[in-house]
Amino acid sequence: MILEKWLNLLSYYDLFTITVFFLIENLLLMLLAILIGKLIEPNITKIKQSDIKWVISTLICNTIVTIIGYKLYQYQIIKINFSTSFFTIVFDTLLLIFLMDFFMFCFHFLAHKLTWFRPIHQLHHTHIETNVYSLFVLNPIETLGFGTIWLIIISILEFNCVSIILYLILNLSYGILGHLNKDIYPKFWNVNVVTKWISTTQFHSNHHKNESHNFGFYFTIWDKIFKTII
Ligand SMILES: [Zn+2]
Ligand SMILES: [Zn+2]
Repeated sequence: MILEKWLNLLSYYDLFTITVFFLIENLLLMLLAILIGKLIEPNITKIKQSDIKWVISTLICNTIVTIIGYKLYQYQIIKINFSTSFFTIVFDTLLLIFLMDFFMFCFHFLAHKLTWFRPIHQLHHTHIETNVYSLFVLNPIETLGFGTIWLIIISILEFNCVSIILYLILNLSYGILGHLNKDIYPKFWNVNVVTKWISTTQFHSNHHKNESHNFGFYFTIWDKIFKTII
């Protein structure tokens, strides 16, 4: 598989080159998110001067997580399945989404309930009205915490390479959608038997306005089970 060849090609480069490579990769993803925000909400997608350092630190933390992930792959601690089986790709993608959503819900819930964690997470909550930049206004401890959950899950279980990429695309997309200011989801979404289980912009926006509810990210299921949904 071509992705396996690309990953193995990186082993010919030293740590500095790999760091620059992953820094550029994470920077491009961040710029893509900001571009999407600016296209959808040009008037409000603006960064506060006081947030610039947090956005840069999030970029650095995301790069650190990527480098650690790559090193864990090199040391065979993270094992990746490069099969092109359609079933494996679909199954692994759904499993990744489900597991990450559950553990991120727990992490986020604790970020609000633990006395020492709450002030760390409050940085993100300085944005009551959100825009796409809010996604990157995170304390480094929180960014590295989310990254650690991600690295532990893909170290314990072997996932398909395409599923990992699809998950990362979905994760960024949901981060963008969750922090837009206006809800772009259709009206039927919250009442339809299938889509009502999938979160919306309004769902995470409500969390920014009422911090004791809506801790989930991709699905509304955990907040429904733990009775924390608005
Ligand atoms: Zn948020
Ligand atoms: Zn929160």
